[in-house]
Amino acid sequence: MTVGKTKMRECIFCKIIKGTLPSQKVFENEHVFAFKDIAPQAPVHVLVVPKAHVEDLLDVRTQDTSIFQELFQVVQHLAPQLGIAGSGFRVVLNSGDHACQTIYHLHLHLLGGTQMGGSMVG
Ligand code: AMP
Ligand code: ZN
Repeated sequence: MTVGKTKMRECIFCKIIKGTLPSQKVFENEHVFAFKDIAPQAPVHVLVVPKAHVEDLLDVRTQDTSIFQELFQVVQHLAPQLGIAGSGFRVVLNSGDHACQTIYHLHLHLLGGTQMGGSMVG
């Protein structure tokens, strides 16, 4: 089955969610899976991912936008657990080529543990 640019059976994040590819899991519930980024860009760098394969933000159907609430609820849960609630953190969602999205399975980057720069487009 082909979904947008990615065949589901070849999708790295689908494999991680299924457990056929290893990851450092930090959270899982019915709809969301979260794990450490393999190439962290901050002391805390966690990917928060819907279990259902959707390619990017625009691939989420209007009737399924509750997944955004689910993803941000997990961020609210994880920020204190990861020790970054008080110091602050950044949530990044890359969507498409200009944003340098490399994995076409929707995900939030949860970044923290350091003072970040002011530029968000560098
Ligand atoms: P993006 O550029 O927004 O699509 O982000 C994709 C992220 O996935 C990058 O930060 C990668 O380092 C990360 N990544 C790629 N493969 C893996 C993997 N096997 N396990 C954990 N993170 C990964
Ligand atoms: Zn996928």
